[in-house]
Amino acid sequence: MQAIIQRMIDHDLPPGDKWRLFELHALGFRDFARVRSGAPLDPFGLAKFANLLVIDFEQIKGLSDETREHLLGQGSEKWSGGACSRPLPDGRRLVILNPNHGRMRTNATLMEEISHVFLGHEPSRLNVVAQNARGRTVSRDYRKADEEAAYATGAAALVPFSSLRRFVLEGQTSPQIAKHFRVSRELVEYRLKVTRLWKTYKAAQPNSERRE
Ligand SMILES: [Zn+2]
Repeated sequence: MQAIIQRMIDHDLPPGDKWRLFELHALGFRDFARVRSGAPLDPFGLAKFANLLVIDFEQIKGLSDETREHLLGQGSEKWSGGACSRPLPDGRRLVILNPNHGRMRTNATLMEEISHVFLGHEPSRLNVVAQNARGRTVSRDYRKADEEAAYATGAAALVPFSSLRRFVLEGQTSPQIAKHFRVSRELVEYRLKVTRLWKTYKAAQPNSERRE
């Protein structure tokens, strides 16, 4: 028991084999991006190493006004972004992000796409997102386990466990931590829960609200 605890302290890994593996991969991504321990990671800088080309929604041609309005209006909450299934002639893949979602949410979406590439996930099927006279727009779809791994690893790269725990022990709130890492408060709270820091977090809050 003592040895396991010591190893966790040494390696700054969260409990649970699955989560340790996600964390180790995420730390690898951070090393690759040469981001200092505890510093925020900019996925836009990392995207090119994953051979992803991030384009503005405004740059997409061939969408009908109706489709455009739907994607940015009523349907805007239903999509966050994705990579196109067909690579460009130079091998890069296009990634389109929802411009309505703001940088905080977009960082997590893009980081998930980068994770799929770095983790070597193969799309299991193609998903038609739009169809017009010029053909179909398809997005890649992954197996459920791959989706979880990509999201979780991406989130760990953005909010690494060791820094998260340090901020928690300092009594910082989830909005403060979110601001530091340039992610949403929801993403920080997801990380607090999956890394089992939630109770510590609640206990460390100065004027602790109702304990959950
Ligand atoms: Zn995904």
